[in-house]
Amino acid sequence: MMPPPAMPATLWAAVTPETPARPALEGEWRTDVAVVGAGFTGLSVALALAGRGHRVVVLEAARVGWGASGRNNGQVIPTLTGAEPDAIVARHGETGERFVRLVAGSADALFGLVRAHAIACEAEQTGWVQPAHSPGRVRLSAARVEAWARRSAPVRLLDAAETARLVGSSAWHGAMLNTSGGHINPLALARGLAGVVEAAGATLFEASPVQSLTRARTGWVLSTPRGRVIADQVVMAANAYTDAFAPRLAPALARSLVPVLSWQMATEPLPAAVRATVLPGRQALSDTHGDLRFFRWDARGRLVTGGALIVPLNGAERLKRLVGVRLAALFPQMGVPRFDRVWNGRLGMTADRMPRFHRVAEGLWSWIACNGRGVALSVALGPVLADAIEGAAPAELPVPLTAVAPYPLHGVARCVAPALLALYRYRDAHEPG
Ligand SMILES: Cc1cc2nc3c(=O)[nH]c(=O)nc-3n(C[C@H](O)[C@H](O)[C@H](O)COP(=O)(O)OP(=O)(O)OC[C@H]3O[C@@H](n4cnc5c(N)ncnc54)[C@H](O)[C@@H]3O)c2cc1C
Repeated sequence: MMPPPAMPATLWAAVTPETPARPALEGEWRTDVAVVGAGFTGLSVALALAGRGHRVVVLEAARVGWGASGRNNGQVIPTLTGAEPDAIVARHGETGERFVRLVAGSADALFGLVRAHAIACEAEQTGWVQPAHSPGRVRLSAARVEAWARRSAPVRLLDAAETARLVGSSAWHGAMLNTSGGHINPLALARGLAGVVEAAGATLFEASPVQSLTRARTGWVLSTPRGRVIADQVVMAANAYTDAFAPRLAPALARSLVPVLSWQMATEPLPAAVRATVLPGRQALSDTHGDLRFFRWDARGRLVTGGALIVPLNGAERLKRLVGVRLAALFPQMGVPRFDRVWNGRLGMTADRMPRFHRVAEGLWSWIACNGRGVALSVALGPVLADAIEGAAPAELPVPLTAVAPYPLHGVARCVAPALLALYRYRDAHEPG
């Protein structure tokens, strides 16, 4: 059997205490619910189910947190990327309203879980700020603040001067501030959550890629290289990595999102004088550019940021130059910082920027396509997926269930998607006032 792939060389892997490897699945197991993937989604649904007394087996192809959950920027953001609350309600009615409220409460849900289980993950509920890069975007921020405030989200519109004070740069025209957001060390959260899941009674296997999923008279059968699990119900929680280990496992699901590479990078620890003027309140920040500017401090004085590329060739070196110059322009007090870590991971994107929730078949559930905002949401969704598995009527769930809709010409979409960055950059530069 092939050994599992190594953990990617992220900042988080370098600073987070290792946990002992769990065994690979061997032989035959019978369980109530099998979960495919040990990222935030798989772990949070496993925790909710185990806590309610169900037998749960989690199968992870590599190690806990190997996917997006261990590679992300760690920003805890209680909004969606481009799907606006009122548009979601217009499309999905009451269910849409419940979903928007779930998103609004998702950061509190994550930090509440971290506190309840004392998970050591460098959690800081310092707020999340979305600065606007043009006067037109300030109007969008104002509309967003109004829409989220109607759902009791703790949001506020900041003018240009308040934004400059909060962020430490006068590059932006205003901002939306949500005080329930913040940031975490994502790999530490995934590893901590895995321990809590096991303490709740679920069984985790690593190095156990599910290679096939079939329906038999006895239940769903999940086969791995050395074993199989028979389960009454299954949660596919492999998200943008659904086709990474077994392309034929759930091809329709894998083709219902477009995986896009997102690059992350961390500066060397920066001097206290810089830390005192750049985001001195330690909020997480992602702005309104299509070619997103995003960063947050980590627990060791590094600024964790990143960027996007159309062509990945020599990506790390090109991004160090691009993002270094960009940061120096935003924060002259910083100068061009040096980066000592660069890595990447797959974002699951959809054209309308909405995540997808599926009852794929009787007893087979999934949610995919976080569109870059999955940290808080995937944790908040655990109890919701558990309700679905326990038989809640679809109309009672706070998520719009839709049929799996694979993108036609998915291979083409996968190749073309990175080129959209050129369009975003053009729009960013030609933003109407
Ligand atoms: C670079 C990057 C930066 C991001 N930054 C942010 C951010 O700052 N804030 C935010 O809100 N969101 C962010 N996101 C999105 C967020 O990380 C994801 O939405 C979230 O982690 C998804 O969690 P998940 O558990 O659904 O999927 P994943 O964490 O990807 O987990 C899927 C797991 O399934 C496993 N798997 C795949 N196939 C199989 C198989 N056949 N058998 C068994 N296991 C399998 C994989 O190994 C993986 O561990 C970012 C994403 C990326 C990639």
